[in-house]
Amino acid sequence: MAVTIPPLERSDFLTGQPLVDGTEICGDSTYAITNPATGEALANVAKLGAAQTYRAIESNSRAFIDWRKRHAQERARLLHDWLALVRLHRQDLGLLMTAEQGKPLAEALGEVDYAASFIQWFAEEARRVYGEVIPGSADRRIIVIRQPVGVAGAITPWNFPAAMITRKVAPALAAGCTVTLKPSELTPLTAFALAKLALEAGIPPGVFNVVCGDAPAIGSVLTSHPDVTKFTFTGSTAVGKLLTAQCATTLKRVSMELGGNAPLLVFDDADLDQAVEGTIASKFRNTGQTCVCANRILVQGGIHDRFVEALAARVSAFTVGNGLEGATDQGPLITRAAFDKVQGHVADAIAQGGGIVTGGKRHGAGELFFQPTVLTGANPAMRLADEETFGPVAPVFRFDTEAEALALANATRSGLAAYAFTRDIDRAWRVAEGLETGMVGMNNGIVSTETAPFGGIKESGLGREGSRHGIDEFLEMKTINLGVRS
Ligand code: NAP
Repeated sequence: MAVTIPPLERSDFLTGQPLVDGTEICGDSTYAITNPATGEALANVAKLGAAQTYRAIESNSRAFIDWRKRHAQERARLLHDWLALVRLHRQDLGLLMTAEQGKPLAEALGEVDYAASFIQWFAEEARRVYGEVIPGSADRRIIVIRQPVGVAGAITPWNFPAAMITRKVAPALAAGCTVTLKPSELTPLTAFALAKLALEAGIPPGVFNVVCGDAPAIGSVLTSHPDVTKFTFTGSTAVGKLLTAQCATTLKRVSMELGGNAPLLVFDDADLDQAVEGTIASKFRNTGQTCVCANRILVQGGIHDRFVEALAARVSAFTVGNGLEGATDQGPLITRAAFDKVQGHVADAIAQGGGIVTGGKRHGAGELFFQPTVLTGANPAMRLADEETFGPVAPVFRFDTEAEALALANATRSGLAAYAFTRDIDRAWRVAEGLETGMVGMNNGIVSTETAPFGGIKESGLGREGSRHGIDEFLEMKTINLGVRS
């Protein structure tokens, strides 16, 4: 098999397989993982289904008996040991991620750090699962304790092959839960490596399993098995709704991190450089393939032309190419279907009166590369106004008033992230409060950090990840109402 990746110190990361109960397991068949930058095969991995998922959950249930009883300090120590191994193998994890997902190596290394930040944060939070004492009556004392929910099922997407995993698994393990994770079939190698490092750190077999393969079959077991008491998903809104419905039959605790359609508002009084840099950070990270990517860029009339000119100058200077070959800013799209969607959005926008300022076509770097694109004259009738483009296309809409901008921004069923750029403090407050999203970047194009709650409203999700609230998704409250004789 052609290997398109520089030699790894941990060459076993390239031959990784699903991990259940501390053992790498095989399925009835295998499939190839390919590098989206080159189309070359990287590895063959086992394709699992329902039978292996049952096995994984059984091992989670056995492991839970001991894991939940471990002292929080011990779970914290094991998470810190896992963190140390992730940091030790940062370079290999970054190379692996670029090879299977396509993001530039610098971004992949940044994602390893971001993923590690969740392990660190929740290792610290493990020791802060506080209870509550509520005033009772003369003969009653009321105490609330918080206990792990139990076995958790988790499904994650391909666009952040490490961070979407640790943002779920670290709080689950910190709380005392055990987990079976299904990563995307497109990017399982990073997931297998993370699970292997957790095992090497001393996290017991069965506490963190990874299965991969037939998504509907695995998903239907994770969402219906009575021993799974918590289900957590990151991915598209359509699949999130389906899996939420599947969880209803056994009434699992559910958290959903779903798709977005982020508006980014630039007002006449914005700092132009800050607005352009914020737009680059929000729109073009991971080649436009993030749930919090600015999908609609709304620019006020007085700054519109200067903003478009400055944005197009930055975007047309991007280096596009294979993230493993030199310094690149933009990589390939993940699949042919993703490429076709981006191309379709641009064609539709042109047909509906949009104009290309830069980009707009396939890039010469390869089959799945699309030119970083800025287009103007965007309007609500275009497909890109309503659907996530998930690619390197910045459509600029023009508006006149703040009220018009807010109405346009909120005219979507999504509510994950939004951004606004203004130097007027009153406007900043009004707009931040008026945007119907779970997160707002004000004069800032990055909203993700382990320290702040991440999540959406409307059809972008349920619950929050990261921050001191992230662990709550894996804890139940128990009220102890104690009778006291005087
Ligand atoms: P997706 O198609 O919904 O897939 C996400 C995960 O669900 C993958 O592991 C996929 O498996 C699995 N899946 C698909 N169909 C399934 C089914 N019927 N039963 C069980 N599992 C199933 O989304 P994607 O294209 O990978 O990811 C992009 C989407 O994720 C975008 O909408 C993006 O906005 C969203 N996202 C949200 C956040 C957030 O925090 N809110 C973060 C990142 C991404 P296979 O890949 O193996 O088919």
